[in-house]
Formats: sequence, C-alpha cells, structure tokens
Amino acid sequence: MLHIGCHLSAAKGYLHMGQEAVSIGADTFQFFTRNPRGGNAKEISQQDVSDFLSFSTQNHLTTLLAHAPYTINPCSDNPQTREFAELAMSDDLRRMEYTPHNLYNFHPGSHVGQGVAKAIDLISDLLNRVLSTDITTTVLLETMSGKGSEVGATFEELRSIIDNIGLSDKIGICLDTCHIYSAGYDIVNDLEGVLEKFDKVIGLNRLKAIHLNDSMTEFASHKDRHEKIGLGTIGADALIRLINHPALKHLPFLLETPNELDGYAQEIKFLRQNYSA
Ligand code: FE
Ligand code: FE
Ligand code: ZN
Repeated sequence: MLHIGCHLSAAKGYLHMGQEAVSIGADTFQFFTRNPRGGNAKEISQQDVSDFLSFSTQNHLTTLLAHAPYTINPCSDNPQTREFAELAMSDDLRRMEYTPHNLYNFHPGSHVGQGVAKAIDLISDLLNRVLSTDITTTVLLETMSGKGSEVGATFEELRSIIDNIGLSDKIGICLDTCHIYSAGYDIVNDLEGVLEKFDKVIGLNRLKAIHLNDSMTEFASHKDRHEKIGLGTIGADALIRLINHPALKHLPFLLETPNELDGYAQEIKFLRQNYSA
C-alpha cells in the first residue's frame, strides 16, 4: 500500500485537513504548525483534535508530517533568532502531543557565514534543549539543496548533527527528492548508489518520510525550485522507481509540488497506478 499525501493548509483545522486528504485519495498529509513566514500559531481545539483522531482511524490515515515554519533558523548568528527558533520548536512539540506519534520536520538552517561546524553545534544544542524523554513525536531533519549557506545538503552534515544529540532515538530524516537532486545526489541515474551512501553515512533506519517533488533546476544546481511530478529534471520514471524501491516503499510520501487540490489528486492517482504492492 502506497502511503501518500500532500501539503495542505492548516487554516481550517485538523478534521478539515483529514477530509481534504481523503477527498484526493491521500492517506496522510503535511501541514505547517504555524504561519510559515510569520511564526504565529493558532490555538488548538480539543474538539477538532478528537473529531480528527476518530476520522483518522475510520479512514485509515497513516503517520502525519508537520512542518516547522521557514522563518526559524536554529543556527543563526543572532541569539534572538535562535531563541525564537527554540521557542517555536518547543511549542510545536508540545502541540504535536495532541496528535501523538507523528513526525515533525524542520530545515536545519543557514549558518550565515559562521561555518558549518559552528552551525552543527548550534543546531544540536538547540535540539538537546527541546527534546525530552516524554515526547512521542519523531523530529526530522530535512535534506537541503545547499542554497546560500544552508546546512544539511550533505548526508555527512546531517549525521554530525545526529551524533551530538542525546535523545537521538527521537531524531530521523526527511528526504526531499528535489533538494537532494539539487544538492548533487543523482537519484535519476544512481538511486541505488545514493541509498547505499545514505545507509553508510546516516543509516536507512533513520529515514522516516520522503518529500516527493520534481525539480525545475538542473542536477547539482543547489537551487530549490519544486516542479510537478513528471514535468521537471528528475522526471516521472525516476520518481516511480523511487516510490517502488524496497528500502523506501513503506515510507510516507508527501507531495510539495506546485499544485492546487485537483492537481494533487491527479498526481496521487498517477503514482498509485504506478506503484506495485
Ligand atoms: Fe521543507
Ligand atoms: Fe521539502
Ligand atoms: Zn524545497
């Protein structure tokens, strides 16, 4: 069974997202925990959560992926910016417990000239402060394209962050197909080699979710421009091989392609047709 969904707006609450997901043939979805560009979070309604949880059980929804806002930078050189990242992430993790045992994804951040080593320390220090034994959420570092001074565009950098974390059983990776292709991992011509490298450096057991996107830009461009499935430089064939790979096919796949709901419905249908159980 292919577990697939897409990014949805959280504006109308959890139940609404669940209903939208089911209406487009999805069994999971991704949503922003708070305003992706500002950072404000709206109050969670206990009633909405209860309604959603029973809807989710009835409709066999699987693991969900929450996404931290883009504006947080856990490895900024500005202490106030880092403090905001920490407050937002710890509040997000508290809020995630309304819907326990799901996934929370964030961008490791940009080192803004401080260097990668310093950034890795800042990111892991922050994670060590926000993680606690009682959280049921798995926190995912997203693989990045390496634009500007982004951290996390190599498997080695992600591994170094994980190595510094005490409660590392709470940490996993979300692999973004557009980002890693832009970062220089050739999932089109050498998926096997890329996964072997991932396994050797990080461990495939850490891989918890896939952002399934095509890319508007060339291999190793270090740009971050998502394209609709089949219309980009990665192409439908490579993405179909990826969802069917024995090491990946059990994972939740989340589309972040430039689409409205009907476009997502079409992509989900296409991918389900090209998935072999
Ligand atoms: Fe992301
Ligand atoms: Fe992504
Ligand atoms: Zn992206």
